[in-house]
Amino acid sequence: MTPNVKAMLMTDKQPDLFDLFVIGGGSGGVRAARMAAARGARVGLAEMAAMGGTCVNLGCIPKKLYSYAAHFSDSFAEARGFGWTVGDTSFDWQTLKANRAREILRLNTIYESLLAKVHVVRGRATLVNANTVAVGAEQFKAKRILVATGGWPQVPDVPGREHVVTSNEIFDLAVFPKRLVVVGGGYIASEFASIFNGLGAHVTQLYRGEQILRGFDADVRQFAADEMCKHGVGLRVSTDVRDIVKTDEGLLVTLTDGSAVHADTVLYATGRTPNVKDLGLDKVGVQQRKNGAVVVHENYQSSVPSIYALGDVTDRVQLTPVALGEAMQLVDHLFGDDTRKMNYDGIPTAVFTHPNIGTVGLTEAQARSQLGAVRIYRSNFKALKHTLSGASERTLMKLIVDDATDRVVGLHMVGTDAGEIVQGFAVAMKCGATKVQFDTTIGIHPTMAEEFVTMRDAVVD
Ligand code: FAD
Ligand code: NDP
Repeated sequence: MTPNVKAMLMTDKQPDLFDLFVIGGGSGGVRAARMAAARGARVGLAEMAAMGGTCVNLGCIPKKLYSYAAHFSDSFAEARGFGWTVGDTSFDWQTLKANRAREILRLNTIYESLLAKVHVVRGRATLVNANTVAVGAEQFKAKRILVATGGWPQVPDVPGREHVVTSNEIFDLAVFPKRLVVVGGGYIASEFASIFNGLGAHVTQLYRGEQILRGFDADVRQFAADEMCKHGVGLRVSTDVRDIVKTDEGLLVTLTDGSAVHADTVLYATGRTPNVKDLGLDKVGVQQRKNGAVVVHENYQSSVPSIYALGDVTDRVQLTPVALGEAMQLVDHLFGDDTRKMNYDGIPTAVFTHPNIGTVGLTEAQARSQLGAVRIYRSNFKALKHTLSGASERTLMKLIVDDATDRVVGLHMVGTDAGEIVQGFAVAMKCGATKVQFDTTIGIHPTMAEEFVTMRDAVVD
């Protein structure tokens, strides 16, 4: 326990009845607790691990820091074309880990200070009944309980599964893996394949389907996979792991097609399931889906009226800004004027592969099936930087326009800083921007982003 939390617990008089007791100090839980306390509610929060949850400790933040680290190998190579002489470079995994750990510790402290008005309890919480939470020997009574316990990596029951690691362990591996096998084709698998490839590992990514990143636009999937392979990721699709055995030389991963890959580390990134183990949800009658996800109705209320749930534990959209948005709506509903409503349409997202993917709105396939007539604008080009850098990296931009209304309904990019670029366009699309309005917006020159407002000719298939 850090000193300021200890101090808080020692000075804080425990109220008899909380207005809200939050289980889980992650993105959603901390936001809900802090906003509710700011509105004058008596709030308690239980957290069993480091404050800040997955995003801060084992997700978005350390992942993005490692992604920055991985980009340097490209930068060193590209600098030569601009006249720089780059001497011998080497990468030190221990330094990156130590610097990341120090930064995360700083963030933990900030999260703790954000909860100055909240009664923070350290330990695993369980539900005793619809209005009581137990943490160790202590019990806390509350008018309402919020379950914000997040998710946990799921690893299929493959022979040798005891030898694999998940995203929980990958950040702190004792030794940098020279040979890494990544299993999965989603966000985490694709991001870590890119990161470890950039850091110098020999990476093989295995995906059971035909193309990675199911759910994204088909052009984006193909383009991103091609670019990742150009950067050095050994992507093998339509295959899966048969078993993993430990040998004198490390791990031997045998695939369903009979071939085998040697590895120092095997990372499974095959999805995350709601973190509800031993929480006592069934005991108090909270309705759950087959995978444990808490079923919520309007304003995140579960089947037990005093119990609410939001974020990854509800297994809807597993993104930090969504958990934050849900928390704001809940607090506004419980302690405010009840006007704030989460809108799940047009949630922008980025995948921090190398290069990045940024996307908002409908895929081409979704647009065609939902809207019928659509116009597609596509641009595939070499960024100005790479005319001198010597890199063969290309950029993809794609717009999908509803022919009937001229509204831009999908916007996709694979290229440097795609997430940064797409965020602003997501606002325009939320405002209902049309293609004509895109066309009459003056570009910022010379940028990659200007391509989104200068694509004139629809693709003729
Ligand atoms: P969490 O942040 O997981 O918080 C849940 C908290 O509850 C945890 O601290 C846990 O210890 C605690 N807890 C659980 N059970 C109990 C209990 N019984 N008692 C007490 N405490 C308990 N999203 C993005 O938007 N962008 C990204 O770039 C991104 N990158 C990611 C990278 C990785 C590797 C991973 C794994 C996830 C990433 N995500 C990203 C997803 C994001 O981290 C989650 O969507 C977000 O953290 C969900 O917030 P939450 O509040 O629902 O749960
Ligand atoms: P995803 O759901 O994105 O991907 C899971 C992958 O594992 C899919 O390719 C899936 O294949 C595959 N898979 C599932 N089960 C098996 C199995 N039994 N055997 C082999 N392969 C399997 O989950 P992630 O774990 O990558 O990430 C969890 C969530 O966290 C993401 O969905 C995202 O919401 C969030 N996240 C967000 C990030 C961001 O915003 N940048 C970064 C990281 C995580 P198939 O497609 O065939 O089902």
